[in-house]
Amino acid sequence: MTDSPTPLPNVICPLCGGANECAPAESGRFDLECWCRTVRISAEALARIPPELAGKACLCPRCAAVGG
Ligand SMILES: [Zn+2]
Repeated sequence: MTDSPTPLPNVICPLCGGANECAPAESGRFDLECWCRTVRISAEALARIPPELAGKACLCPRCAAVGG
């Protein structure tokens, strides 16, 4: 067993179904810069993510900024 996790290939925004432009999800590597590391995700957007996808799929930049 290796304990180096790889990003899930979730490239779809769980809120709107659009492309989330998440670099790690697209490439399968965590060592890439992604817009989501510098953007502040609004609490309102986080609250709308389905529980089964929370922490597993990136939002898209548009949804991440909603309410913020
Ligand atoms: Zn979205």
